[in-house]
Amino acid sequence: LEDQLRQAQKMEAIGTLASGIAHDFNNILSPIIGYSELVADRLPKNSEELEMVLSIHTAGIRATELVRQILTFSRQSDQKRQPLQIHLIIKEALKLLRSSIPTTITIHQQVPDCGLVMADPTQVHQIIMNLCTNAYHAMRETGGKLNVSLEVVELTPQDYLDSLELQPGPHVKLRVYDTGCGMSKDLMQRIFEPYFTTKKQGEGTGLGLSVVHGIIKNLRGHITVYSEQGKGTEFHVYLPQVQSSNQIIDTENAGDIPQ
Ligand code: ADP
Repeated sequence: LEDQLRQAQKMEAIGTLASGIAHDFNNILSPIIGYSELVADRLPKNSEELEMVLSIHTAGIRATELVRQILTFSRQSDQKRQPLQIHLIIKEALKLLRSSIPTTITIHQQVPDCGLVMADPTQVHQIIMNLCTNAYHAMRETGGKLNVSLEVVELTPQDYLDSLELQPGPHVKLRVYDTGCGMSKDLMQRIFEPYFTTKKQGEGTGLGLSVVHGIIKNLRGHITVYSEQGKGTEFHVYLPQVQSSNQIIDTENAGDIPQ
């Protein structure tokens, strides 16, 4: 309980501190990202200049992601929950990921239409990006396989006894699996703490998984991790499935990520 309290306090502090500057920061980032992309288009392939400009672009994207994470802390109250076709958002996120990771890492995806979950599209995007970016980092040196799959599972009493905070009923289950460096038991116990990171300064914030955890708890879902050092890691995320209602569901825009 003390840990949880400490975590909540840290979250609140981050939120208060960050929300003020995060918006301005986004404005600063947009020309960096936009113009570096334009310049990259005009540079010859395989040139050193192109590589440099692409690094600027990647850094800009990373910074945007960071701002997005920080804003999550302060935006708990004005999130826009809606019935979402979660598979569309996952596909969109994977497309983005594919374009930014090296070919030594292969992505396998099995993301059929699994119905609806009630969630904010930005937050679902964050969940998938955070899990996949971590998987990528775990395989960066060695290469490997990233597997993302989605299915509907009916949680029966036995299942939800294991993790008491889940309700029985249909859930959408997201699996993100990597063949990367894996984690020790000690490490696994700390990964959801805010600011906990094993990455070099400038590479990790330690906020990713605490954000993921917070979002999922908020949606009355559940996240579990399985990992073996040297072999790989697997995250399972469960989110309650909602039945389609009379609400108008805009499938065209369900995958859009509002800024
Ligand atoms: P960050 O990525 O900024 O370090 P996270 O909260 O996303 O912050 O992750 C915390 C730590 O959890 C990482 O530094 C890493 O040590 C560990 N981790 C997370 N995902 C994986 C993974 N797929 N494989 C191995 N280690 C992982």
